[in-house]
Amino acid sequence: MHIVVCTKQTPDSAAKLAVDDAGHVSWGDSPIVINPWDEYAVEEALLLKDRIDGDVQVVVISMGPEEALEALKHAIAMGCDRAIRIWDEAFAGSDTLATSYVLARAIEKIGDVGMVLFGKSAIDSQTGQVAVAVARRLGFSPLTNVIKIAEIDGASMTAERLLEEGRQVVQAPLPAVVGTTKGINEPRYPSFMGIRKATRAEYPLWTAGDIGAAADKVGAAGSGVRWERIFAPPAREGSAEIVAADTVEESARILVDKLLAEKVI
Ligand SMILES: Cc1cc2nc3c(=O)[nH]c(=O)nc-3n(C[C@H](O)[C@H](O)[C@H](O)COP(=O)(O)OP(=O)(O)OC[C@H]3O[C@@H](n4cnc5c(N)ncnc54)[C@H](O)[C@@H]3O)c2cc1C
Repeated sequence: MHIVVCTKQTPDSAAKLAVDDAGHVSWGDSPIVINPWDEYAVEEALLLKDRIDGDVQVVVISMGPEEALEALKHAIAMGCDRAIRIWDEAFAGSDTLATSYVLARAIEKIGDVGMVLFGKSAIDSQTGQVAVAVARRLGFSPLTNVIKIAEIDGASMTAERLLEEGRQVVQAPLPAVVGTTKGINEPRYPSFMGIRKATRAEYPLWTAGDIGAAADKVGAAGSGVRWERIFAPPAREGSAEIVAADTVEESARILVDKLLAEKVI
């Protein structure tokens, strides 16, 4: 059985946003690290591997350009068995909808997957949407905010979810998508041997063709929400008039007359 961990690279949590003269927003030259919440997902996958009888392999995947290797290397250094980077120029500009499609196609290609683990959210975009979207696409049981995996066998699992109201105990059939949360475990530091293994490991690249991704479902074409639409609101219609008079009382009188004329008051 495969346990898959999805991870992405994020800027270091101390990074500061930079805006260039053209208005482009970036994280500047801050160091790129594994998304901190994903360390809990990696740790849980490694703990589950020890708990489940039989041949279990932990595969870590990331959809992203070359910087994604930072996240994959960290996961391998922690103890994951293998890593796959998924990237194609066609994936640039993907929102959560398109990202979940790519990840789901890759998970299908890996095959024999019993569980897919995610971090709570990514610390940069932080939508928390990708895990449930992947579950929906694959038809796997979606469990988010999981603070404890109490029982697991080859067919089902019992988990505790941390909700605002308290803890909720749920049972779900496998395969499942599990969104982990802080407190589920204490992520290990990569060992010296682990870091050496990560340096020497191979990081195969799967492209759109490798996972059979349709062109209209990835990148900007496959995205419902485009950043340029969010950050470039439409031009305002209407006009503004500044009421200018010698005194405040006079300005107020002119303003009241105008509001009465427009039937606003
Ligand atoms: C170059 C670039 C261009 C972008 N353009 C757009 C755009 O045009 N429109 C838009 O809406 N968004 C855009 N994004 C943001 C992108 O859609 C989100 O980063 C992505 O969908 C994940 O959402 P999230 O970060 O909120 O993850 P969350 O849903 O908060 O993350 C939950 C879990 O999913 C994992 N996860 C998230 N993404 C990946 C991944 N790629 N591979 C593996 N695991 C992952 C996280 O590590 C975490 O464990 C862009 C990002 C980049 C880097």
